[in-house]
Amino acid sequence: MSSSRENIEVKINKSWCKGCGICVAFCPKQVLGFDSEGKVEMQDRENCIKCGQCELRCPDLAIYLGGVDNE
Ligand code: SF4
Ligand code: SF4
Repeated sequence: MSSSRENIEVKINKSWCKGCGICVAFCPKQVLGFDSEGKVEMQDRENCIKCGQCELRCPDLAIYLGGVDNE
């Protein structure tokens, strides 16, 4: 599959995440969850549609779409 979004992915800055859960609640694919420290983590990257809702909703800029690192 070819897509202009294939080279971006959801990134999380855990040091900024306060664990409010807004992004988890708004993610239409329910691919986000919490790690053992109550910070958000990507739990099902294959099903993330890169819609950007998490980035839009996070009040702390802790989750965002960014370029894939190593390719
Ligand atoms: S980009 Fe969309 S599908 Fe992917 S984690 Fe964020 S809200 Fe969920
Ligand atoms: S909305 Fe932002 S601060 Fe809240 S849980 Fe998600 S990433 Fe963390």
